[in-house]
Amino acid sequence: MTCLPLGLFGGTFDPIHFGHLRLAEEAVAHLGLGGVRWIPAGQPPHRGAPQVTAGQRLAMVGCATAGNPLFSVDPAEVLATEPSYTVHTLERLRRELGDTQPLVLLVGADAFAGLATWHRWRDLFSLAHIAVSHRPGFPVETASLPHELATEFADRRMLDVAALKAGPAGCIVTFAMTQLAISATQIRKLLANRMSARYLLPDEVLDYIQTHSLYRNA
Ligand code: ATP
Repeated sequence: MTCLPLGLFGGTFDPIHFGHLRLAEEAVAHLGLGGVRWIPAGQPPHRGAPQVTAGQRLAMVGCATAGNPLFSVDPAEVLATEPSYTVHTLERLRRELGDTQPLVLLVGADAFAGLATWHRWRDLFSLAHIAVSHRPGFPVETASLPHELATEFADRRMLDVAALKAGPAGCIVTFAMTQLAISATQIRKLLANRMSARYLLPDEVLDYIQTHSLYRNA
């Protein structure tokens, strides 16, 4: 029996917003995924400390994704005591899910452009496929990527997403999603300035933010 590819979506989610949710929803449809496993980062190695605790970011991802049976949340990076490296998470998931399950790491175009700075980044390709979504302001083109990543992109890119089902790892695909120029940075700024962030993220998440008095400081 062939398993449908499983999407893996990591991020800081500080906080989760509709850009993230549409990316995962549209990835399921465009890439033929069996589901998406959300993996909030514990201590993200690539950026400054998030403003709220990892447990609070995990809780917000939990309440935003709860209504979707194709979404699940993986708390392992939040519960870990060491920094979160994607390569370690993929190695753990390979041990858990076996060698043949196609895994698809979902990343926005901005995150993909920085891939060559990730810990053991070349090993990612032996562990999972990578699907890059378009994001406003971040073109997905070879010319916009650092040389070594542009080479991998050119060698591994598949135009037909059926390639994701044909093997467990190693391809790169891109997909166009509804373009939403929403970022967590913008939401944090609005909240710190006591301005409305409504309709940029789910009401349940906004209620959680208000109940716990999060993002009050710039
Ligand atoms: P921040 O503004 O704090 O940097 P962010 O909104 O970019 O946060 P992250 O948690 O850093 O959110 O992103 C997780 C993943 O979601 C990344 O791969 C990122 O490229 C992608 N992403 C975030 N927002 C969007 C969006 N509006 N459209 C498409 N992809 C997005």
